[in-house]
Amino acid sequence: MRSNKSLSFLKTFALWDLLVGLNTTIRLFFRKKVTIEYPEEKTPQSPRFRGLHALRRYPNGEERCIACKLCEAVCPALAITIESEVGADGTRRTSRYDIDLFKCIYCGFCEEACPVDAIVETRIHEYHMEAPGENIMTKDKLLAVGDKYEAMISADKAADARYK
Ligand code: SF4
Ligand code: SF4
Repeated sequence: MRSNKSLSFLKTFALWDLLVGLNTTIRLFFRKKVTIEYPEEKTPQSPRFRGLHALRRYPNGEERCIACKLCEAVCPALAITIESEVGADGTRRTSRYDIDLFKCIYCGFCEEACPVDAIVETRIHEYHMEAPGENIMTKDKLLAVGDKYEAMISADKAADARYK
């Protein structure tokens, strides 16, 4: 008991814990770094990454979505609101397609349920809202994201299919 106390006193006197810490610092200082300098550096992303949503079109510009509402039905967070109408050409289309990003839990069920690959979650994850209401992704906003990132979306879909 007495020798334990003496040892403890000696360690305190010799700043033992500080030396152990310095030893760890020096050992790790020369090792390969595992941290990255975000946002200048970024980690690789999976083609299955579930970020900002998009609505896609076919190459001829036609909307893929046929307003079947499967995505709305499957959404566990009730984040999707769809209204539909029949167009002049007899096809059913959405007149309203909203996703509330504050409700969304990015589960990907909407993408899984869609029979025509219309609604997708892109790899975009760097976005923010500043004004009230910006959390609602309207149909126009979703189509704009789809139009802008179609090349990335189709490449990710192709890469993902290779793993299935
Ligand atoms: S990712 Fe999940 S929670 Fe978000 S809209 Fe799709 S189904 Fe709903
Ligand atoms: S996005 Fe897909 S699942 Fe949702 S309503 Fe359109 S076609 Fe149906």
